Amino acid sequence: MKEIGRIGVVGAGTMGHGIAQVAAQSGLRVTMVDVAPAALEAGVAKIGKGLGKLLAKEKISAEEHQRALERVSTSTEMADLAECGLVVEAVVEKFEVKAQVLEALDEVCGADTVLATNTSSISITRLAAQTSRADQVIGMHFMNPVPLMKLVEIIRGLATSQETFDQVEELTRRMGKAPVEVHDAPGFVSNRVLMPMINEAVFCLADGVGDARAIDDVMRLGMNHPMGPLALADLIGLDICLDILSVLN
Ligand code: NAD
Repeated sequence: MKEIGRIGVVGAGTMGHGIAQVAAQSGLRVTMVDVAPAALEAGVAKIGKGLGKLLAKEKISAEEHQRALERVSTSTEMADLAECGLVVEAVVEKFEVKAQVLEALDEVCGADTVLATNTSSISITRLAAQTSRADQVIGMHFMNPVPLMKLVEIIRGLATSQETFDQVEELTRRMGKAPVEVHDAPGFVSNRVLMPMINEAVFCLADGVGDARAIDDVMRLGMNHPMGPLALADLIGLDICLDILSVLN
């Protein structure tokens, strides 16, 4: 199995910068690509802040902090991902946008590059079919906030090879995460279970069953959730929630 030394992350938003941070912390070199230079700037600033917090809490040393920062580079050009062993796309949850990104990655990346998608809900098989390397495409679904959450759902498409799966499972562990394999179905397990709950919380609000604070308090204090469903929807992003629910629908 080929050892991966550099990864690419496409999309420097909520998820992309988090994935880049944990990859850099685990010793991987990372190139983060976004269409928006402002998103890259914001992403790098958030990585700096995230690593700074770990330094302040003495979870990493000053040297580890410095090294991790140095491992992250940015670009607005997909072509700069050519040398990566793995590229994770974390652009918006729209099939057309992801399809375009995967097609472009397929063009510019080396023959060995594995293409992973951080999609929350879209079919891996359908996304993989946009490339000429469906055997090297896989779902790698990180949770938000990436530096804190252990889980990564790993999803094979119909054509994903065992080698691709093994490589990604190993890399996930190297990044300090816990891989859990699930199958390619809308929303996988995480969002198939989570999103209907968030949707019901929104219906509770719309129907006046409780105000936002009461709804979140019921789920926090009564069900022991660390965060209420409405606060969680805000953390995820309401646009992403709607896109996932549309896929489930
Ligand atoms: P986001 O809106 O915060 O970031 C998306 C980034 O992608 C933006 O910076 C945007 O400029 C960039 N982008 C858009 N089109 C692009 C393109 N063609 N090329 C390069 N960059 C492009 O979104 P997010 O919340 O980070 O979500 C990203 C993905 O991760 C989605 O598929 C989402 O479903 C998934 N996800 C999100 C969460 C969450 O809680 N937000 C959790 C797990 C998975």
